[in-house]
Amino acid sequence: MRHTLLMFDVDLTLVDAAGAGQVAMLTAGHEVCGEGFTFQGVSFGGRLDPLIFADATVGCDYTEAEGVQRHDAFRSAYIRDFEQLLARNGRSIKPLPGIPELLDTLRIRAQDEGDVMLGLLTGNYAQTAKLKIEAAGLRRDWFTLGCFGDEADSRPGLTELAMQRYAEQTGTPAQPGRVVIIGDTQHDVACAKAHGCTAFAVATGRLSADELRDAGADIVVDDLSDPTPLFDLIGN
Ligand SMILES: [Mg+2]
Repeated sequence: MRHTLLMFDVDLTLVDAAGAGQVAMLTAGHEVCGEGFTFQGVSFGGRLDPLIFADATVGCDYTEAEGVQRHDAFRSAYIRDFEQLLARNGRSIKPLPGIPELLDTLRIRAQDEGDVMLGLLTGNYAQTAKLKIEAAGLRRDWFTLGCFGDEADSRPGLTELAMQRYAEQTGTPAQPGRVVIIGDTQHDVACAKAHGCTAFAVATGRLSADELRDAGADIVVDDLSDPTPLFDLIGN
């Protein structure tokens, strides 16, 4: 494996979407499923969007086939509603501290030295991940690999997919010891540890640095405004 593969989560790791995603999701859910769609008791942080949909529609009592059909309709409506919301109020989405500078350094290094590869590993759908990233002034095409919420049944499944895609793209198998999962929740930590990868946690979300340490993160930082611990890990 020639690269260190750095897989970034999106929400509260790269960007703070200020709840815009949830607003658009709720609008889309009500459009497609009616008032039975509710976020009451549903947890969000670090979870896959299709699983959030499944939890939000528990009271709708859909058959499996209905659930699949409604989920497809929901995803389309959510992407459309989110795009419209951003067109009205896109400036509310901001990158987290240090992220633009860090990604600038890493993408240039990926190009010039070729020893790192950047990717996205997120519970978002591919389209909403792109919308969030670009609304925050970052670019989707800086990330060579992307693994998204509807591409596996669980977050650890996305880690497995990332390693598979790395192998397909480069012709060399991914070594877990050279895969770093960067995220803000216990789910990001768990999906790294499930496959022997390094869990690099940022306390820019709802969990404190101590909670992320307790969840088993290998490295924890308050934010990436000082990326020294990341560069110590991947080499300068
Ligand atoms: Mg997150």
